[in-house]
Parts: sequence; C-alpha cells; structure tokens
Amino acid sequence: AVEARGVHKSYGALQVLKGVDLTVRPGEVTAILGPSGSGKSTLLRTLNHLEKVDAGSIRVDGELVGYRQKGRKLHELKPKEILRQRSQIGFVFQNFNLFPHLTVLENVIEAPLSAQRRSRSEVESEALELLKRVGVGDKAHDYPRRLSGGQQQRVAIARALALRPKVILFDEPTSALDPELVGEVLEVIRRLARDGATLVIVTHEVGFAREVADTVVFMDGGVVVEQGSPAQVFDNPQHDRTRAFLSHVL
Ligand code: ATP
Ligand code: MG
Repeated sequence: AVEARGVHKSYGALQVLKGVDLTVRPGEVTAILGPSGSGKSTLLRTLNHLEKVDAGSIRVDGELVGYRQKGRKLHELKPKEILRQRSQIGFVFQNFNLFPHLTVLENVIEAPLSAQRRSRSEVESEALELLKRVGVGDKAHDYPRRLSGGQQQRVAIARALALRPKVILFDEPTSALDPELVGEVLEVIRRLARDGATLVIVTHEVGFAREVADTVVFMDGGVVVEQGSPAQVFDNPQHDRTRAFLSHVL
C-alpha cells in the first residue's frame, strides 16, 4: 500500500499541498482529478521523492520514502538509496520522457540494470516480453523519435513495468496525445488494471476514471476535497467544488 499522511509542500510562499492524506491499496486503481494547479502532479512527485515534502510522510508497504527515522529525527536517504526506493515505484509522465539517445529496448532496461543490478540477459528478455505486451515488440531497436506518441507512451509504460514496481503512477498519460492515439494507451492501462496492478492515475478522462478506478480522489487547492467510489464521486458528489468541477468536464 501507498500511504501519504499530512503531506505539505510549498514553493516559496506558494502552498501547493496543504495536508494531503491518500491511501492506495494493493491491486486497486486510484484516479486523481482536479482543476489545473490543484497540486495533483506535485502530490504524485512526492510519492516517489521527486519532490521532498515539507511536512508529513509517505510510506510504501510501511517503508518511509526518502527518509530514515533515527529516534525522533528524520534523515534524508543517500541518493543511491533513494534510487533504489524509486525503482519500486513506476512513473509514467505526460510527455513520455524517454531517453532520446537510447533505443526503445535500452530505455526499458536502463533502470533495472543500474538501479536494481539485475542481470542483463534476464532484464533484456523480460523487456522484450513487456514491449510485446504493450504492442511495440517490433520497435525494440528503434529510437523513440521514430515512434508515434502513443507508441512512445506504451514504451514508457513498459519501462515502468520493467522495474516490477509495487505501484505505477501516471501523470495525465494521454493528455499529450493526438485524440486517435489515446485509445491504445488507455487500453494498455485498462489491461494492467484488470491484471491487478496497483495504479495511481492523474487524468482528465472522466469516462476512463469511472470505468477503471476503484477510488476517485478529487483535489482542489492543495487538499483532497472528497474521495470515494466512481459512483459516489461522479453521480453523488458531496461538495460544491466537486460539483462545479464535474459540471465543466462532464
Ligand atoms: P495541472 O492539471 O495543470 O497539471 P496540477 O494539479 O498538476 O495542475 P501542479 O503541477 O501540482 O498542479 O502545480 C500546483 C501549483 O504549484 C501550481 O500553481 C504550479 O505553478 C506550482 N508549482 C509546481 N511545480 C513548481 C515548481 N517546481 N516551482 C514552483 N512552483 C511550482
Ligand atoms: Mg499536473
């Protein structure tokens, strides 16, 4: 499980997260929705310590993320330990973020080799399987720029899966895609959900969230305004802010 408790984060004077609690249970899909600037990406980035929290804590399977507790004091982990922790958490970005100078296969095997120190032969054969699974098995030796946006994003998903992560975080995985390419990426995510992966997805695709999410979290102004099943949040929202947001996106 992923557990965020009382997470606060500011940039200078700007308070972006004002005490966020989030629990992601194993095998569940959590969709995070909310207006632009509400802190969704910042929250995702704190979950794997891409952003340090100012207060509060993140735990993955009980293990504190980014810190070690000594007595009552927290000490930040060494970069190497942070990389190891991060390798338990897949991250799929809006803009794919593939390494342009590496082939598709090299992109997928990079982190398992460097952060997890697994054997190249094992990692490579698993990577080729994963690329097939997301439908780009024939692109393994191409460079990312030769691929469509939808193909690049599927490679990014394979790259996340190659870490055998406990959870995969998606930050608007389809919002940079041409409309005709959105479906192929959603289908891959849908299949992961069906296979029991633990997923956290920031998305504006309300229809998709309704279909795949076990829990929908609505954020606004740096707090979780409400959360519940898709039916609760979409059909029977309890807060004016949720209703106002949904009236714009539905
Ligand atoms: P969107 O739907 O547009 O992606 P979001 O909910 O993901 O929005 P965040 O990206 O988390 O919002 O940003 C929340 C606020 O924090 C915004 O006002 C943003 O400008 C600010 N912010 C984010 N990252 C930084 C940063 N590195 N430095 C300064 N301000 C930042
Ligand atoms: Mg964002």
